[in-house]
Formats: sequence, structure tokens, C-alpha cells
Amino acid sequence: MTTAHLSEPTRWRGEPFWGVASDWDPDWLLTDRHRELRATVIELCAREMRANAERSDDELRFPRRNLELLGEHGFLGLTVPEAYGGLGGDHLAFALVAEAIARFGCASTAMCYVMHVAAVQAIMLRPTPALVDRYIRPLNSGRIGTLSYSDPRTGGHFWFPISSGAERVNGSFRVRKRSSWTTSGGFADFYVIQTTSPDFTGYHDLSVFVVDADVVRARPSMWDALGLRGNQSGAVEVDRALVPPEQLVGPVGDGAESNDEVVDPWFLLGSSSVWNGIAMGAVDIAKRHTTGKVHDDTGLRVCDYPTIQDYVGEAVTDTNSARLAAYSVAGALDGATDHNRRLLTPGERARANYLHWCWQLKFTAAKNVTAVVDTMLHACGGSGYRRDLELERYLRDGKAGWVMGPSNEVLRQFVGKSVLLGFEAVDYWNQTVDQRALANETKKLDAAGKRALAARLVAEAEADEKEARG
Ligand SMILES: Cc1cc2nc3c(=O)[nH]c(=O)nc-3n(C[C@H](O)[C@H](O)[C@H](O)COP(=O)(O)OP(=O)(O)OC[C@H]3O[C@@H](n4cnc5c(N)ncnc54)[C@H](O)[C@@H]3O)c2cc1C
Repeated sequence: MTTAHLSEPTRWRGEPFWGVASDWDPDWLLTDRHRELRATVIELCAREMRANAERSDDELRFPRRNLELLGEHGFLGLTVPEAYGGLGGDHLAFALVAEAIARFGCASTAMCYVMHVAAVQAIMLRPTPALVDRYIRPLNSGRIGTLSYSDPRTGGHFWFPISSGAERVNGSFRVRKRSSWTTSGGFADFYVIQTTSPDFTGYHDLSVFVVDADVVRARPSMWDALGLRGNQSGAVEVDRALVPPEQLVGPVGDGAESNDEVVDPWFLLGSSSVWNGIAMGAVDIAKRHTTGKVHDDTGLRVCDYPTIQDYVGEAVTDTNSARLAAYSVAGALDGATDHNRRLLTPGERARANYLHWCWQLKFTAAKNVTAVVDTMLHACGGSGYRRDLELERYLRDGKAGWVMGPSNEVLRQFVGKSVLLGFEAVDYWNQTVDQRALANETKKLDAAGKRALAARLVAEAEADEKEARG
């Protein structure tokens, strides 16, 4: 059987690529520009980025050089309009670039890159001349941004910033933020953060700020983890920093909309593409190893055993389903935003209409990479367990997918709950009372228990009312 070649064969340092052939890349959705961008990334990976991945992993080293290389070729401004010095790329371009960095180069770099682009896009939801001049135009000089959202008190519910706040002070804002995880923490030049709003009315009332590194306290030397060891996702703190009004992104109270319209869609698309890239990269390594190793007793290579062919067949089929999901969701986001050229005003929805597709995408990609890296280890045997094959790094890096917020436990519940009960039932900020659970629990109380509960609730209500009266 022969198939038409959809893409040029992938090249690696001037030779045909040693991993899975480009016949297995779902490239019919790509333009020539997309292919060109991806080919440049692959070249950078072959030239330097893959070698740097090993050092980042061994030494817990932030992948500064890889990010600089990406900046030198314009990729730090990939999704920024050309008028501001960017490459004018769309969502599909972002998915392809994130996937290629993770597959061919360095997964830690890919994760830093995803957080950088998501931070840039959070600013670009509400661009002002001041924000553009300060944060967007200088991007290709190597400036890196990140998202610092996860709160130590709410775990993976990163949209719930309890340990944060902002007060108005003479036209500026006094901002505090504690974050339990921040990719590129201590290395980024700017941090997009979310806090409760000044005059806070409830956890749906959040505001977005961008702050510079000089007001962010980080202790990168504390970072140590199973995988993505270069991504330096440590805790950071902003301790009552005075932030000028130009660094408020969007109006006060824009946080929830910013989450749904940019932070979640860009992060979920980008990180899913990283998981897909790691999965393909693990199959690449397994191909290289199993086609090269011979068992002299049987005269067969490892790849000649049908069991190994089954492993690879299932891994590529499942990973390509996840890649198609990523490219398709990227296409939907491109359709909704005129390929990332549409400027949205507060209240206008575009990407947010596809958020539930982003949830499903992340669940699928993270579940897949978890299984594929294990299967490729089994396919390579003990050799895969050794560090020199590189597979074990892909395995460790891939394991971040499932646990990274929103974790797959949280996502499948979002999906199932909204399918069964409607989107409102998701209740991000824990505001809707579950009357069924309440009735079920109180009916277990005897009369004395009910009286005691009622007395406690009356006392709480009186205290709340007193506080509200000031
Ligand atoms: C490599 C890496 C990089 C990261 N980078 C960033 C970053 O740049 N910025 C950022 O803001 N954050 C970042 N994070 C943080 C991430 O998004 C999560 O906040 C973090 O992984 C949550 O860890 P936790 O221990 O607090 O988990 P927990 O939230 O305590 O979860 C523990 C367990 O409880 C489950 N669980 C939690 N809530 C529910 C629920 N409602 N229903 C059912 N099960 C539930 C979880 O699925 C998990 O199994 C990063 C994380 C990793 C691993």
C-alpha cells in the first residue's frame, strides 16, 4: 500500500528524521506558513534545543538559552500582531509550535513557552498603548512572561485566588498575591496575576494585573520535581506591591472573563499540545531503539515482534486522535477570532464558547500521554529505563499532564456535571448551595441536632449582618 505524502519528510540535521515519519502527521489542516514555522522550530531543536533539554533536566536549569533562541526567531511574539513586532500567528500555529518544541526539543522549554504565550495573550485581550509598549513590543529581545495563578489554599483550583487582594491607593493599586506554582518563577520578566478585586463582592469578582520581576519574590533553588525539571514552577509572592493603574489589564472585575476568554483557552490548547508532543516524542525514541536492536538468538529486531508493533500502532493512533482534537479546537478558536486578529471588548465572547471543548482536549491529551509513555517504556524494555535513551525523561515530563491544573479528575467532573446538570452546576467559586445535599444531611439530625444547627446558623447570620452594617 502507498499513501500520498501530505508533507515534506521531516529533516534532522540535513538527514531524514530518525523517528516517526511525517506521513503520520495530520497536516492537511495546515497552511504553508504553519509548516514553515514548524520546520524552523524542528531545526532549532536539532541544532541546540534538544541537547539543552538534557542539561535542564540534569541540573534543574531554567531553559534560558532555548527561550532566547525562540526569541531570536520571533517565536516569543508568535501570536502578537505584526504591527507590534510579532509573527501574527493564530491558535493553530501556537499548537504546532508548542507540540514541536515538546516533541523534538525540550518539554520544560515547551511548558515555559506555553505559559509565556498565555500571559502575552492575557495582556492582548485588553491591549493599551502603555501595555503594548512595555510588555509586547520588546518581546523578541528575549523577555519572558508567565501566569502565576495557583493559590496555596485552593490547590489546583487556580481560578480561586483566596491568598490575594488589591486595594486602591491614590489611583494605583496595592497588590498581594501568593502562588504555589509558577512556571518560570524567579526567571520571568513579567507575571500576569489574578487577585480579588478592590471592593471585592465575591470570588467571581477578580482582577488581572501584570507585574514586573522586581516585585516578585521567588526561591527557585527550592524547586525540585519528577519531571519538567527545567520549568522551575516554584512558589512566588507579591507582597503588597504598589502597582500603577497602567498595569491593571482590562477593567476592575475583568478576571472571570479573562479566564474564560484567554487564560484557559490558550493554556489548555498549549499544554495539551505539549502532552501530544511528548507522546509523539516517546514513540520517536521507541522507533529508533526498537528498529536498531537485534536479538541474535531469534535473529529478529525488537520491532519485528507483533507485540511491539501493536504497542506502537495503538500509541500512534491514540496520539493522533488527541492531535486532531488539538488542531480542530485550534481551528474553532481561529474561526471565532478571525485567526486571532479580532479585538474583543468586555462582554464579547469568542473563545469562551469553546471552553468545554478545551476541557475535553486537555483531558484526552493528558490521559493519552500518561499511557503512551508507559507503553513506550515497555516496548523498549530495560534499555528504556536507562537515562541514555532519553525515554525516561519523556516519561517523567509526560506525567505532569494529568496532575497539572485543571487536573484530569477535575476536568472529567466539569464535563460530566455540565452534561448532566447544565453548565451552571460547575459552580467554579463554590457559590451555589446544593439543596439536595443540604436536605439529605439535615434529615439525618434528630430534633436536638436540628435546634443546635438552627441556633448556630442564626448566630452566624447575625454576625454576617453586623459585619455588613460595618
Ligand atoms: C509542572 C507544573 C507546572 C505548573 N505551572 C503552573 C503555572 O505556571 N502557573 C500556575 O498558576 N500553576 C501552575 N501549576 C499548578 C497546577 O496548575 C495546579 O495548581 C497544581 O498542579 C495543583 O497541585 P496540588 O498539589 O495543589 O493539587 P490538589 O488540588 O491538592 O489536588 C490533589 C488531588 O485532588 C484532586 N482534586 C482536586 N480538586 C478536586 C475536585 N474538585 N474534584 C475531584 N478531585 C479533585 C486532584 O485531581 C488531585 O488528584 C503547575 C503544576 C505543575 C505540575
